[in-house]
Amino acid sequence: MTERSFKTDALVLLSRPLGEADRLVTFLSWDRGKFTAVARGARKTMSKLAAGVELFTYGHYQFYRGRNLATLTGQQVKEHFHYFRDHPELYPLGLYLAELAGSVVSGEGPAPEICNLLLEGWRRLIEQPDPQLFLRAFELKLLDFSGHCPHLNGCLQCGSAAASFFSPRQGGLLCGDCGHAADRFTVQPGTVALARRLLKAPLQQVKQIRPQGGQSHELGRLTGTFLRYHLDIGESRALSLLKLFK
Ligand SMILES: [Zn+2]
Repeated sequence: MTERSFKTDALVLLSRPLGEADRLVTFLSWDRGKFTAVARGARKTMSKLAAGVELFTYGHYQFYRGRNLATLTGQQVKEHFHYFRDHPELYPLGLYLAELAGSVVSGEGPAPEICNLLLEGWRRLIEQPDPQLFLRAFELKLLDFSGHCPHLNGCLQCGSAAASFFSPRQGGLLCGDCGHAADRFTVQPGTVALARRLLKAPLQQVKQIRPQGGQSHELGRLTGTFLRYHLDIGESRALSLLKLFK
């Protein structure tokens, strides 16, 4: 990145106080990936920047890049998801989506699919009858977009359709003959079908999907163990709030 000033659409992933009056803000942007910038004076009451640098904000931002960190110089807020503040039970879920999206983007390359997914996730979370199922759909899509999708079509070693084990370490389903991985556990065919359906359905259709008894819980184990093995989410603030994966 050589130009000194730049503009981009971005989502606020993290916003921390810095010094007396500033904020240090981590952005996830459509065309520049993940980066951190200083918002000078953003904690002063009269600051024009204050509204745009909170977590759960979508906006168009202008930056100046000095020798080190970028500095935020202007912004237009497009959407602010205040409902996360008004619904404390949803706050850690929205934070979890942000942390997960941030964990698969490194450096300043374009990340349009991940940005669109996170924006849609923040928009749709409030309307979910089953927020946990929505998180599973988000996790699966995120893994898919980032090239880490678990193998869910038959045994990953021999291709057999009768694959009733899942190994996070090996990355997907295994049949009884191939399934000797120490970390394997049994999954029901209905749970695998649910995972495939969630992968395919747009996020706005997830609220119409009704899993049968036990499938949600089993799918949570599948995605949870897989994510912990393949993504770096060990320091998650949201997970320590939620204890999502038991
Ligand atoms: Zn096999």
